[in-house]
Amino acid sequence: MLNFDHNATAPLMPAAREAWLRASELFIGNPSSPHRLGSRADAALSEARGRLGRLVGCDPLDLVFTSGATEANNQVFHHFARALPSDAEVWISAVEHPSVVESAGYYFKDRSRTIPVGRDGVVDLNWLADQLARRRPGAVAVMAANNVTGVLQPWREVRELCAAREIPFVCDAVQWVGKEPGGGFGDCDFVSGCAHKVGGPRGIGFLKTPGRGRTESLVLGGPQEEGRRAGTENVAGALAMVATLEAREAMMPEISRLEALRNGFIERLAGELPGVEIAGRSLPRLWNTVAALLPEVDCRQRWVVKLDKLGFAVSTGSACSSGEEAPSPVLLAMGYAPGEAGRILRFSGGWETSGEDWDALLEGIRKAAKQLAVTFSRNPR
Ligand code: PLP
Repeated sequence: MLNFDHNATAPLMPAAREAWLRASELFIGNPSSPHRLGSRADAALSEARGRLGRLVGCDPLDLVFTSGATEANNQVFHHFARALPSDAEVWISAVEHPSVVESAGYYFKDRSRTIPVGRDGVVDLNWLADQLARRRPGAVAVMAANNVTGVLQPWREVRELCAAREIPFVCDAVQWVGKEPGGGFGDCDFVSGCAHKVGGPRGIGFLKTPGRGRTESLVLGGPQEEGRRAGTENVAGALAMVATLEAREAMMPEISRLEALRNGFIERLAGELPGVEIAGRSLPRLWNTVAALLPEVDCRQRWVVKLDKLGFAVSTGSACSSGEEAPSPVLLAMGYAPGEAGRILRFSGGWETSGEDWDALLEGIRKAAKQLAVTFSRNPR
């Protein structure tokens, strides 16, 4: 089975496995325990925090280890619901992950407002600057890289607009960390990330909080994480996450090669399959992601099933509820009609995906298209 669904989750990389096993064997105490086993585990957790602080570019003490980015994003809006005035609005981009959309909606109801994106999927900076000149939200959230299209957002520019007005800025960096060169996130007030999109274990993530002021805890109980998250810390997970992100950071020079492999696949796919459109094709975006609007067939779920049978894991890029496939909210926000947004398939490779793997996927799509009776051009470009 070839995995083209890394944006959902990626296989465990050796550095993560080694770090996790080593830490699980070595650090057997509870970091909160007063004995030496506890102190050793606590020291290991501090080490992980220090190394993560270097990667994110922030004070290690601003970092909270969480069970993943969904929890981190939930915590941010839980915090805002308590810390902001009762009439405050939160503004979130139209292409945020459900863990941001749902949390903002749950805590802020109709005070959660949407920052529009253009047809290219990039947040409209002019709209934002214009609105910020007239009104003052309690917080702004714009992700670093989109999970469906891979389009990179101008999060640094948004951060600057917010910083100039002292408005808290939240950046969901899940799809960026470990894929694009890190650093620079330390200036954002809140940043969420996780390990499992790039080869770390599932169930560990982080939230970078502002150095000033208290960040409310979502999980109640003990005083762990400086009162910002109760529960026995996942020491092995934290060390494995850091080992993963460090290993990926050292691999960043590989990006241009991997991007060329992905681009070669796009060229041939678009050349061979008439009517295929790649969302955000002309824009800077993650080197691993292809969001392709395929020629119409009854249901794109059939593509997923067909490709699955042929040995490829791919995604529709949106959650499936009771067998009914909703059009991708990300594509709808980009102005695609529901019929068009319902045709998207997402192929997301990983650090270990080879040129042969992309070739094999193209061949798989050819076969699937034939079986689904989708016609190919006789004259590939
Ligand atoms: N944010 C984005 C952009 C994501 O792609 C994901 C995962 O799909 C999440 C948040 C949630 O991350 P986690 O799986 O760690 O809860």
